[in-house]
Amino acid sequence: MSNFYLDVLKDRLYTEKADSKQRRAAQTAIYLILDSLTRMLTPILAYTADEIWRYLPHRADDDAENVLYNSMPSTVAVDVDDDFIASWDRIHELRDTVKKSLEVVIKEKVVKASLETCVTLKASGEEYDFIEKVLPELKSVFIVSEVKLEKADNALSGELEVAVTKAEGEKCERCWSYSITVGSDSEHPTLCARCAAILGQ
Ligand SMILES: [Zn+2]
Repeated sequence: MSNFYLDVLKDRLYTEKADSKQRRAAQTAIYLILDSLTRMLTPILAYTADEIWRYLPHRADDDAENVLYNSMPSTVAVDVDDDFIASWDRIHELRDTVKKSLEVVIKEKVVKASLETCVTLKASGEEYDFIEKVLPELKSVFIVSEVKLEKADNALSGELEVAVTKAEGEKCERCWSYSITVGSDSEHPTLCARCAAILGQ
């Protein structure tokens, strides 16, 4: 399983509203992965697969008792275009670059966790345009509290610059992100605006 995928999913599973589209989509994806993985593992790890199977919800035509009597998973068609895949390949590369900078500040004990930081990306040209387009995704992809994008001073070098600083604001008790909006809702003085809004829905 991809560590990246599970890491990124945690926030929406723990903090989004129980029946939000984002959270339900994550649960569906996790269910499909676990269901398929268990079927495939059965010939190799029979007992482990059997134990997992007992805790899984099943479809009407599954044999709920014995994992061994079920078919191997069939492929699930996911309708995405090449641009989508290419875009996520680039986001993965960005994450690898940012992760190196985050590891440095954690190692130097400036912060204990990536969520305590704000990442500022300085880019130019096409790279700036790309990052601007995917900016809303990057906070959860990097697992940080804030991501800022600036135009690079030296556009000639073409190199992406990554600066990691401590995130502004207080730690939200619910999602553990740092935000200057913590306390802005008088009904939830220890929460950020996003969490307060989720609870108020
Ligand atoms: Zn929060």
